[in-house]
Amino acid sequence: MRTTISIKKVHSDFVRQIEEISGENLLSCNQCGKCSAGCPVAAQMDLLPSQVIRMAQLGMEEVLESRTIWICASCLTCVTRCPKGVDLPRLMEALRQVSLRAGVSELNLDQLDPELVRELPQLAIVGGFRKYMK
Ligand code: SF4
Ligand code: SF4
Repeated sequence: MRTTISIKKVHSDFVRQIEEISGENLLSCNQCGKCSAGCPVAAQMDLLPSQVIRMAQLGMEEVLESRTIWICASCLTCVTRCPKGVDLPRLMEALRQVSLRAGVSELNLDQLDPELVRELPQLAIVGGFRKYMK
């Protein structure tokens, strides 16, 4: 992937929107990598949590195409490890919100297997709708 880094992108509306929704300062992160080292689902991610925040810092909207923002389980492990007090789950949620507002839904009701719907706990289904649908 070829991308251009510019100060304009670092101060873009995209960055401002992510910071507004999450309440976090993206530049607080110093890329130490402790979040990625401790994330229990990192092996399932296409970008490590620290890479997600790096792309967001640089205003790279391509980060919205990453599966990581949907896989993050908001378990807070990274929050307890971060020496800079960055709340990564809030950032992941902000990125999901921006995606959902742009019309991207990770869950399509029509494609759910009726057998699966019968077996899943209702709480899991409702939680999934809240996380993955607009
Ligand atoms: S642990 Fe905190 S400071 Fe370190 S890379 Fe992750 S978010 Fe950034
Ligand atoms: S909150 Fe998300 S990014 Fe942080 S450790 Fe848990 S799954 Fe990984």
